Amino acid sequence: MARLRIENLRKEYDTGSIVAVDDLTLSIDDGEFVTVVGPSGCGKTTTLRMIAGLEKPTSGTISIGDEDVTAQTARHRDVAMVFQNYALYPHKTVAQNMGFGLRMSTDLDADERREKVEWAADMMDITDLLEKTPDELSGGQKQRVALGRAIVREPAVFLFDEPLSNLDAKLRTTMRTEIQRLQNELDITAVYVTHDQEEAMTMGDRMVILDEGELQQVGAPTDVYESPANAFVGGFVGSPSMNFAEVAVDRDGGRTTLVGDGFEYPVSDAFASAMPDDDRFELGIRPENVAVDAAGDDGGGITATVEVVEPVGADNYLTLDVAEHFVARVDSSIEPAPGDEVTVRFDEDSVQLFDVDSGETHS
Ligand code: ATP
Repeated sequence: MARLRIENLRKEYDTGSIVAVDDLTLSIDDGEFVTVVGPSGCGKTTTLRMIAGLEKPTSGTISIGDEDVTAQTARHRDVAMVFQNYALYPHKTVAQNMGFGLRMSTDLDADERREKVEWAADMMDITDLLEKTPDELSGGQKQRVALGRAIVREPAVFLFDEPLSNLDAKLRTTMRTEIQRLQNELDITAVYVTHDQEEAMTMGDRMVILDEGELQQVGAPTDVYESPANAFVGGFVGSPSMNFAEVAVDRDGGRTTLVGDGFEYPVSDAFASAMPDDDRFELGIRPENVAVDAAGDDGGGITATVEVVEPVGADNYLTLDVAEHFVARVDSSIEPAPGDEVTVRFDEDSVQLFDVDSGETHS
C-alpha cells in the first residue's frame, strides 16, 4: 500500500475546448479510502482513468509512494481497477480471471498463484465459484469476482469506478458493506468514484466533491455535510437536499431580520453579530434543522402552510410554502395535513450563509 499524490492535474479534450479536469491537487494517505463524487460530467471517471494510466494528463503529476508514475503505462502502475461492468474475460473461469493479472505482472509459479487466488476467493466468499465462467454468475457474484481479482494482486492503490451501479438497491447495500469490510481487513488505499452522494458519505474516510472538473471540497463526510465550502456542496450532499432562499438583511430597529420571499426571520443577537456585513445572502438550511410546530406557538418563527406530507418511516418530509418550497424533515409523530398552518423555526446554529454571487460559504 502507498500514498497517492495528484498535483495540478489537468485534462483537456478536443484540443482544449473541453476541460474535463481542471488543476486538481489531492493527497491520499496510505490506507485511506477516499470517495469522489459529483454530478454527471464533472470529471470523476477521467480523474480515475488518469490515475490508472488509461488516460494521459494534459499537465500535472501523479505519484504513488515516492515514485512519479505520470509517464508510466497502465501495466506498469501498481494499481487495480474495479469497473462498473465487471470487465471479466468471458471464456476464462473465475479462477483464471483472478489469476490472469498475477501471471502477467509477477513471476510467481503456478502453485503460488493458486494459493493467492484461493486466499482472495476466500476473502470474497466465492471459493465455490472458482471453476464457473462469468455467464454462469449473477451480477453480484461477478462483482465479487472483480473485487477478488483486484485484491489478489495486492496493489498499492485500488481504483473503483462506480462498481455498484449495475446492482439492485439491496445488493448494492450488501456489497457496500463488503467493500467496507475489505477496507477494514486489508487497510487498502482506495479511490472510489460514485455519483451517489450517500455511498460517498458512508464509505469514505474523506470525500472529494467535484463540479465541472474543479475540486469543490475535500474532507471527512460529516465535516463536508455540516460545513459545506459553498452552496453547490451544500446542495449536492445530503438527502433530501438543503433548502435555499435568497435573503436580504434588515438591521433596522436594533433587531436583525432575514427577509426572504414571503417570510421574515428574526435572528438572535449572537447570530447577527457573527454575520458578515453583507446586505444579501443565500441562506441554506438542511431539512432536519427546520422545526415545525402547531400554528400560533409563541416565540416567533415563520407562519407557513403545509403543502405536501410524505411519510418515510421514522420521519415525515413536509413541504412548506416557505421560499421555494422548503422541506422539513420531522419526526413521524408530527403529522399535519396538507393545508394546515404551522410555525416554522430554523436551528440557528445550522443556518449556512453563502455569498449570493460566488456561492462561497461565509465563515
Ligand atoms: P459520469 O458520472 O456521467 O460518468 P464523470 O464525472 O465521470 O461523468 P467524465 O466521464 O470524467 O465525467 O467526463 C468529464 C468531461 O469530459 C465531460 O464533459 C465529458 O463529456 C468529457 N469527456 C470525457 N471523455 C471524453 C473523451 N474521450 N473525449 C471528449 N470528451 C470527453
